[in-house]
Amino acid sequence: AAKASGRGALRFYEQSMHANAQERRMIETDLRHALATDALHLAYQPVVCASAETIVGFEALLRWNHPTRGPISPELFVPIAEEIGLIQAIGEWVLRTACMEAAQWPAHVRVAVNVSSVQFANPAFPGVVMSALAASQLDPAQLELEITESVFLNDGLDTDAMFAGLKALGVRLALDDFGTGYSSLSYLRKAPFDKIKIDRSFVAGAAVPGNRNAAIIGAIVSLAEGLGMDTTAEGAETRDELELIRTLGCSHIQGYIFGRPMSAREAAEKLNCPTGVVTPQGYERSRAP
Ligand code: C2E
Ligand code: MG
Ligand code: MG
Ligand code: MG
Repeated sequence: AAKASGRGALRFYEQSMHANAQERRMIETDLRHALATDALHLAYQPVVCASAETIVGFEALLRWNHPTRGPISPELFVPIAEEIGLIQAIGEWVLRTACMEAAQWPAHVRVAVNVSSVQFANPAFPGVVMSALAASQLDPAQLELEITESVFLNDGLDTDAMFAGLKALGVRLALDDFGTGYSSLSYLRKAPFDKIKIDRSFVAGAAVPGNRNAAIIGAIVSLAEGLGMDTTAEGAETRDELELIRTLGCSHIQGYIFGRPMSAREAAEKLNCPTGVVTPQGYERSRAP
């Protein structure tokens, strides 16, 4: 395989999908350093109510701006962090930071945090969530944890007990990337999800006449409604997709049509909150309300 020569982030990203051992070691070392030096940050993408088009929450998305390589996608570095055991520490940082930043928002605005199946497999995980809530004073009802079906593939894990432990904290649970994994229906029967997120691959192209995705989205929505769960359509980019998703009855929409992932400051400004920065000591207001 060709060596990534550092000619721009996209090139690096593409080649690292098949990263060789040397590239992987570089990512491992630099990622440890990034976490230790507070060089990671979160971007927030609006989640919008499909009918009223108001912001009901934001999804926190991890960002790593590499000093020489530029932005590196979480789709590339999260799997590596999982393999080298760094995801526990990174995941804890994400939870604490997201809770701290969201604690400045109005009480009805939620924050969604992605949880790796490796984090989820750790019996200490509910305690990590509890301490992030306690440190930030965020209302547990404002926190939504996004997990994927892959958590069910871990035979050694008592998923029922994990779900019970998390629900007991008062947080919400969302099933992310729905439709892209394995036999999801048996999981839905038992797991106490509050929301199903319909994967972007079903939304893309759904508005093209004759496209089969619309039928699948409609079926997922009725399934979710029957189970008392919300639905978020991920990745709506066009007005046509938005109209279709709304017609199909999705309760929430998240996609470039309403907003790209933005900084914590921009998110707070969108909500008309006084903007400031979160420091290890807490929230520091930068200007008067
Ligand atoms: P995800 O959780 O499904 O997040 C949604 C992804 O879709 C985000 O990509 C978001 O920027 C992108 N997206 C949203 N709307 C649109 C749209 O209209 N068009 C297009 N083309 N894309 C859209 P991102 O930020 O690159 O994250 C990719 C994945 O990385 C996430 O997928 C999630 O699986 C993982 N990830 C991100 N942050 C974290 C984290 O803090 N922890 C863990 N464990 N995984 C994370
Ligand atoms: Mg997600
Ligand atoms: Mg998703
Ligand atoms: Mg995804």
